[in-house]
Amino acid sequence: TYIIGAACVDVLDRSCIEECPVDCIYEGERMLYIQPDECVDCGACEPVCPVEAIYYEDDLPESEEKFRTAATQLFSEI
Ligand code: SF4
Repeated sequence: TYIIGAACVDVLDRSCIEECPVDCIYEGERMLYIQPDECVDCGACEPVCPVEAIYYEDDLPESEEKFRTAATQLFSEI
């Protein structure tokens, strides 16, 4: 899966939503979240983010780990 990090907070540009072929990017109150079970790893969202907030899971910086946890928890509750 891809993961959206801190740069998205209070930005919510939404360019990624337009690009995602499986519509797995959802809007939260302060940022967007990728549903990890629905993401097909196509990578289309990553280059269109104007604030470079999107990472492939293996490239997620240590400082952004809480966003992986947040996305996982968010969608496991639904
Ligand atoms: Fe959607 Fe592809 Fe980005 Fe996954 S990698 S969130 S499927 S655009």
